[in-house]
Amino acid sequence: MKRSGLAIAALAALSIFAAAAAAETKTGVDKLYILNCGEGVAGDISRWSPGVNVGKPMDFVDNCYLIHHAQGWLLWDTGIPDAVAAMPDGLKPSDPRMTHWRRPKTLAAQLEAIGVKPADIKFVAVSHTHPDHVGNVELFPEAMLLVQKGEYDWPNPLGRPRFKAEHPVTKLEGDRDVFGDGSVMLFATPGHTPGHQSLLVKLPKTGAIVLSGDAVHFKSNWENRGVPSGNTDKDKTVSSMQRIADVLAKEKAQLWINHDKAQRDSLKLAPAFYE
Ligand SMILES: [Zn+2]
Repeated sequence: MKRSGLAIAALAALSIFAAAAAAETKTGVDKLYILNCGEGVAGDISRWSPGVNVGKPMDFVDNCYLIHHAQGWLLWDTGIPDAVAAMPDGLKPSDPRMTHWRRPKTLAAQLEAIGVKPADIKFVAVSHTHPDHVGNVELFPEAMLLVQKGEYDWPNPLGRPRFKAEHPVTKLEGDRDVFGDGSVMLFATPGHTPGHQSLLVKLPKTGAIVLSGDAVHFKSNWENRGVPSGNTDKDKTVSSMQRIADVLAKEKAQLWINHDKAQRDSLKLAPAFYE
């Protein structure tokens, strides 16, 4: 009797261990959607890799990424403002070497198409505060903004704040495990802007992906480690690119480059998703 009681207790303990191990390895993330958050033409791509391809234009894209975790939805970057969708000629840059953006579809319409309401978004995390990444932050006035403090406190060119003071915000100082289970990790990659950050997502089937914001702009720019002329810190840009390379190696992750059109053309967009 005693013995079988002990055996049962031992078995129960084992199954608790097994459950704990399963809980540890099971990621809370189950879906990642790529949303079309803009399309454009860059006038001169040597701005992003000085000395390389001077005067050469290139088609660019702009992505937002919607991630579903058991604890809620996280949107990574918000793209070109939805209002641009109504502009017949899009947003023309003042400097013709920069990017002329259009918005074939609004972010709001793409969320609606997959049955997600703006109020369902728990976190909005932005790589940085350039207009092609924060264009729709106020579509989500209730969502917790996850932004580096150095970026939040960086005044815009007019000397004004980059976000509405009343928007809920968590100002990060370095890396952050968003849901506490290692499945969605923000990591600091300053240099393009003072508080630029990148995102590591570990999907159960697709595996690990690094969403690099604008730490890099397109594939050849990554390969030649070009530092864009407009970046706020050259040394930090180079260190951040190395940090991304280290994360890719450690996590055996894919690098998804936000503005790289050739890469986006090879991936599936919402309503399809990655698991
Ligand atoms: Zn950008």
